Amino acid sequence: MDESEIQKMFFHPVCTRDEIERIFNVQNAKDYLLKLRAETIVDNTRLFRVYRRKALASGDSWTLEKSFNDAHWQSVIGKLPEDQRAQCKNVTFGDILSTDPNGMIFETEYGPVATICNSMEFFTKFANLAFLGFKTEVPYHVRINALKISIRVMLKTEAMDFSVDPRGVLPADVANEIARPIPWLKKFIAGHEIAHYILGHLTNENVIEQPVLCATSIDDDNYKPSKVFNPSQKNEFEADLQSILMPKYNDIERGEVLTGALLWLAALDVFEHVSDMVCPKAPHRYQTHPSPSERYENLLTSIPAPQGMPMDDWRQLSENIKYLKEYLTEDVGFNIENYEFYGSIYLDKPNSAWRGRELIDRVDY
Ligand SMILES: [Zn+2]
Repeated sequence: MDESEIQKMFFHPVCTRDEIERIFNVQNAKDYLLKLRAETIVDNTRLFRVYRRKALASGDSWTLEKSFNDAHWQSVIGKLPEDQRAQCKNVTFGDILSTDPNGMIFETEYGPVATICNSMEFFTKFANLAFLGFKTEVPYHVRINALKISIRVMLKTEAMDFSVDPRGVLPADVANEIARPIPWLKKFIAGHEIAHYILGHLTNENVIEQPVLCATSIDDDNYKPSKVFNPSQKNEFEADLQSILMPKYNDIERGEVLTGALLWLAALDVFEHVSDMVCPKAPHRYQTHPSPSERYENLLTSIPAPQGMPMDDWRQLSENIKYLKEYLTEDVGFNIENYEFYGSIYLDKPNSAWRGRELIDRVDY
């Protein structure tokens, strides 16, 4: 067996035969994106286990490419005016596994590629549990634990095995409410990258070297530097606004995207605050974007309030976040190991209403 055949074997558990050929003979930006995803997975034992399990569960229907959902990209592009939609044909869009919660757009020899981070889903779901109001009262300690799970997801210290170990039991209304904003906030992040492209923010002076992939644990230097566009702070605010205003959303849809955007920026604000204390070398320190609280404020003051959206509640949330950050500063000071150890934390104590029966590792899952 020659060297390349041996190399290819590592990809077999997570890729189809066709995909492996594309990875080893990249012809276009789609192949490039596939390779980026596959290499991150193969290089990372934890991710590899998660994806091998997913592939086994899907059987013959599995492809790595299709396991990444790009509905949010398609949906934003579908809402753009025709000439802008045509412009977007030059860019390849898709999600990747990354430690940077922001989206990014970067140049490859096959054309520009725009991506957002795939752990968004769990990161924001648990943050939404901490931030939103629900019909069912959610105890404060459950909210705080949810926030810590969210932070740990983005720090890559929380095990990504939520499908077998969901970390707690949620009433149906709460479970629905925390999941509902996620497709919308993905549209916001995708729209932000698309806006940069359409508004012509991506000039050569704006290119910086940045690690694109850092999907492993926080103190692992396993990443690939890539040339990433780094538009000015002013352009960032503009891309945030145009992400919501440029697609032809009706009033209700605009409210949903704005809600998603505010929730995401709130989660990002809390995450960056903790990440700065726990791992000062984290990728977001490359400062590609203004602070999440400034971006939050910019959206609140500049987007015309959609009908029926309780803007005062959103102002209150930004106040609450200041207190949460103070609490977290103290908590990290006393219990930094709770953010650094790899494993799982839970919404509540075992055998309680919000946790359910304690599951035993390797017995129950
Ligand atoms: Zn940006």
